[in-house]
Amino acid sequence: MDHSDMPQRDWQLSERARKLTSSAIREILKVTERPEVISFAGGLPAPATFPAERIREATNRVLREAPAAALQYSATEGFLPLREWVAARVSTSNATIRPSQVLITTGSQQALDLLGKVLIDPASPILVETPTYLGALQAFSLYEPHCVQVPTDDHGLVPQSLTPMLTQGARLLYAQPNFQNPTGRRLPLERRVALAEFARASKFPVIEDDPYGALDYAGSPLPTMLSMAPDHIVYCGTFSKVLAPGLRLGYIVAPEDLHFKLVQAKQATDLHTPTLTQRIVHEVVKDGYLDEQIPAVRALYRDQCEAMLAALARHMPDGVSWNRPEGGMFIWVTLPAGIDTMALLEHAVAANVAFVPGAPFFAGDPQHHTLRLSFVTVPPARIDEGVARLAALIRERI
Ligand code: PMP
Repeated sequence: MDHSDMPQRDWQLSERARKLTSSAIREILKVTERPEVISFAGGLPAPATFPAERIREATNRVLREAPAAALQYSATEGFLPLREWVAARVSTSNATIRPSQVLITTGSQQALDLLGKVLIDPASPILVETPTYLGALQAFSLYEPHCVQVPTDDHGLVPQSLTPMLTQGARLLYAQPNFQNPTGRRLPLERRVALAEFARASKFPVIEDDPYGALDYAGSPLPTMLSMAPDHIVYCGTFSKVLAPGLRLGYIVAPEDLHFKLVQAKQATDLHTPTLTQRIVHEVVKDGYLDEQIPAVRALYRDQCEAMLAALARHMPDGVSWNRPEGGMFIWVTLPAGIDTMALLEHAVAANVAFVPGAPFFAGDPQHHTLRLSFVTVPPARIDEGVARLAALIRERI
């Protein structure tokens, strides 16, 4: 929104508030809500996957069977049966996670904010992937860290690059091993082992943010780093991509000493995540419903990803490259150096197609010739048409 016509006040805002900026691309992307725009910009799950009927039935059951408890204040840690469910879900034969390690959060976005709150002082170094999730940069930036970018390649974070010089004094390392937002990359097993080993030897936690892990198209997930080093990894999960993001329900799994600090921070923030939502989601998932739901989401996204990969191969000119994700919601595209995707976006929107430029996903030194495409909310025929429009604009600039 343009705030220039708002009344000027004498109110003194905090330094923190004055440093807050709105994303430049948000304005451009607003127009993508027009039906004629084919938008590959959103990070939104496909509404066709939302189990509305299940959620309606569960809501009725909760309100019929436990109305007083469901509508009352409750513990900051979260609804115990849901915490037990999460603990069982993330436990493996190597690592038993206790419910006392689980904190239910208002989306995993709140998990990132709480972690920033309890781990970051102004100017303290934090380690992030190159590029990384824009929303994590936003959440952490409120605590004014010094972001250090960890080198990556086509397979994600390069563990050998975590030298003492790079990691000196860091407060946390933020990583997404599964189908990373924005690149769609998945960290191979040997790198997970190396990163878990690094976490064990470090004086700071490695945060494993895992919203997309369940969405691997082949249904053959790689082990989490949490399962390899449960006392050194802080794991963030969410129901957003497997049920519905509007529920705003996520969780942190952390060693008990850090968990305690996170609970204190959360208490100050919002007392607790809505009791009703926690009970509804527990009611939906407790008897194994996700094992029915997730394969359907995977199958839809796999087909749409295939459609986009085919369209890219069909339409993109030489010099444009992209990855082939094995799961998740995103494809990362690299154009010839010299094409600035921020400038390209304005022309794209005029041609009724949208994407997210890559630059905002970098904590520094952005690669301006990159962009992120999401294929999950656009039907295959429209995917082909949208990619064709985008390819025509790129061809004009090569
Ligand atoms: N982490 C990553 C990597 C994400 O892509 C997102 C959502 N786009 C989130 C966290 C936040 O998700 P939520 O708050 O809905 O759980």
